[in-house]
Amino acid sequence: MLDLIIEGGTVIDGTGAPRKACDVGIRSGRIAQLGDLRGAAARARQDAAGRIVAPGFIDVHTHDDRLLLDAPQGAHPKLSQGITTVITGNCGISLAPLLTDNPPAPLDLLGDDAWRFERFAGYLDALEAGGPALNAACLIGHSTLRVRHMGRLDRPATGREAERMAQDLAEALEAGAIGMSTGLYYPPARAATADEVIAVGAPLADAAGIITMHIRDEGDAIEDAMREALHIGRELGIDTVLSHHKLVGRSNHGRSVQTLAMLEQAAREQSVCIDCYPYNASSTMLLASRVRQSDDVLVTWSRSDPSAAGKSLFRLARERNLDPEALAQALTPAGAVYFAMSEDDVERILAHPLTMIGSDGLAHDQSPHPRLWGSFPRVLGHYARRRGLFSLETAVHKMTGLSARRFGLPRRGTIAAGNFADLVIFDEAGVADRASFEQPTEVSAGIDAVFVNGRLAWGHGRSWDVHAGHVIRRRAGAGQD
Ligand SMILES: [Zn+2]
Repeated sequence: MLDLIIEGGTVIDGTGAPRKACDVGIRSGRIAQLGDLRGAAARARQDAAGRIVAPGFIDVHTHDDRLLLDAPQGAHPKLSQGITTVITGNCGISLAPLLTDNPPAPLDLLGDDAWRFERFAGYLDALEAGGPALNAACLIGHSTLRVRHMGRLDRPATGREAERMAQDLAEALEAGAIGMSTGLYYPPARAATADEVIAVGAPLADAAGIITMHIRDEGDAIEDAMREALHIGRELGIDTVLSHHKLVGRSNHGRSVQTLAMLEQAAREQSVCIDCYPYNASSTMLLASRVRQSDDVLVTWSRSDPSAAGKSLFRLARERNLDPEALAQALTPAGAVYFAMSEDDVERILAHPLTMIGSDGLAHDQSPHPRLWGSFPRVLGHYARRRGLFSLETAVHKMTGLSARRFGLPRRGTIAAGNFADLVIFDEAGVADRASFEQPTEVSAGIDAVFVNGRLAWGHGRSWDVHAGHVIRRRAGAGQD
């Protein structure tokens, strides 16, 4: 007897293969049977006639370390767009292992009151004990390690400090972390050299861990920054992901032609891929240097002036008779959305075969970038259906099968017998993002139902408090096969 049959739907299985009419039978959280299941016995049936049935989406670029602890409301932005698995701890920022009540920017993107995990294993255990709403595979952040082990951050780590960080990484990998992230762009890690990252990252090689990198520069010096990141990945001999690939600043528009060619070249010799969010505006901490490169800047939060959230920095500067960079300085600590990319670059990068989809959503911002709520439906609705950038099968592959393979998530990302029953049912004609820069927390349209490990986690326009997620540990452990 099956627990559930999703019947009458059209399956897009996540491998990139063409769709086919197929019922999906679920038992004990797994996909048990595929095919014509009209005669099969089941405790429940879900009608998917006229709908697409796809693997649950994998958000490969998140800062959801803390959101996962705030289940179930916390997971609302994720489940509502069909996401069933997240990769946490990107850009050098992980919530563990660090005890502090005063995290330096950009660590404060995760808030300042949740830094209570002395060990990475403690974080994973807390996640598992709470029963996360989503599956999570977790990275440890190089910047978090720097803050933990170094008094001053404006210099490279000493050999002794790098050793201590490597020790923490080894421990985290042992506990189940899937790899390490870096954020050499950001102040806490700007003084780190490639040699430091290679020394700290040494344990990744034996554990077959992955490294994801927010590279040192995404503007004028992007090619040098990519060369550095590729060098680090090559030296460590591990799978490498360059995060949220983009070209910032008007003078760099169009350069994705070169950067993508460079990646293709590198991909012949090493395992490398990229992720991308489907918007031509970025979001991170408010930095004066970034204001200069932007056509407009929206404040997403500000500790010193919360009333600035959701407003244009340039307009506020005019109203207050201040230079925009001086105002940015006065508003910090703060976050911002920057309009500084070209749509042509965004489309070229999204369409590239090495590109996976990641939201980079910032769940704790007062007025967040709409990517937090809309990324995946936007790729399906705007870029696949309206713009015709790729087929729906390719769009789904970029958010499921490709991602699971690149991040080494066993039995996820494709619809096949024996796989975990992470599934999304959506309306091909109606799926669309509704979150905008003005209304950033609008729920997307066209996502009918979302199952996490076989249990309904989103349906009838709301999320269900089922705590069905697993912690996906790289080593054999509770959450894994
Ligand atoms: Zn980043």
